[in-house]
Amino acid sequence: MSDLAGLYARNAAFAESFDRGDLPIKPNLSTIILTCVDARVDPASFAGIELGDAFVLRNVGARVTEAVALEVSILWTLMAMASGATPSLELVIIEHTACGMARFADPEVAAKVTERFGTEAVVETYAIEDPAEAIRTDIERLRANPIVPSELAVSGHLYDITTGKLSTVVETGPLR
Ligand SMILES: [Zn+2]
Repeated sequence: MSDLAGLYARNAAFAESFDRGDLPIKPNLSTIILTCVDARVDPASFAGIELGDAFVLRNVGARVTEAVALEVSILWTLMAMASGATPSLELVIIEHTACGMARFADPEVAAKVTERFGTEAVVETYAIEDPAEAIRTDIERLRANPIVPSELAVSGHLYDITTGKLSTVVETGPLR
């Protein structure tokens, strides 16, 4: 059974009182949030991100993939072209406790995933053995990717789904 009708009903209620149709494309904050698709993890809730506030990228595990590196660089370029100056953008990577991608770090699960996809790349890219270590790996992936601007500020954080609290794993600083 599809949940689509319910989504449209919620949207109708949203649109009825909608009065923010004039927001600029440039967000209020100089922030790109990268976080997980997990339904328990939403920056609109835990960080009060409202319409027009920030760029938000989400993928499984909040991992830095080739696509994420490209998209962050595209946002950087977009903001640089709009302002005619070096943007002061910060990428805020937020992983979370009890992520589904921790399962991919289990050797038995990893073997099944690798068999299913016919490549080890899925486990190598997405599996999370330790969230803090994964964040550091993700920052290294950005650093090693020449398309990502050196001036981009990057920080890493962990969101605890049991307490709702955010904690810092890697302090903010320029990528290179
Ligand atoms: Zn997750």
